[in-house]
Amino acid sequence: MLRPIVRYGSHGLHAPATRVAAFDAPLQTLIDDMIETMYAAPGIGLAAPQIGVPLRVCVIDLSVGKRGGELLALVNPEFIERDGMQLEEEGCLSIPGFSATVPRPNRVVVKASDRDGNERTIEGSGLLARALQHEIDHLDGRLFLDRLRGIKRDIIVRKIKKLQRGGKW
Ligand SMILES: [Zn+2]
Repeated sequence: MLRPIVRYGSHGLHAPATRVAAFDAPLQTLIDDMIETMYAAPGIGLAAPQIGVPLRVCVIDLSVGKRGGELLALVNPEFIERDGMQLEEEGCLSIPGFSATVPRPNRVVVKASDRDGNERTIEGSGLLARALQHEIDHLDGRLFLDRLRGIKRDIIVRKIKKLQRGGKW
């Protein structure tokens, strides 16, 4: 089922999410809905808080469903390693219409459970490393805007506030 994606300013997006304790049927439905919602958006990643669910779950597919085997569903992901530096343009389904250049480590190793509760390790560099960090940030209540410095962030926040006041957000 498609779920509405909440936007910047929605309380749950700015609060840390809770660890998943049970790999039960509701979790399977949540993950299926997140995958469907990510593909429909379309986007390369989606975190549960973006559909109003405060759990540490995210999905990533750099091919947006075009290539098999690239879909990742991560439960309770954690960084094991982070190194290097990349500087690329980044956007977010919860901040439509805005993007910014965000500095991030270039390579990460993440430990997570898959949807069945089996622990696995994912290593990524470049875009995959960026997507993993962007989605795990969501689980900590952090958006890419929070990674920007002063004026760059203020300009975007001011524009969003204006849209909110006009009822266009
Ligand atoms: Zn995002």
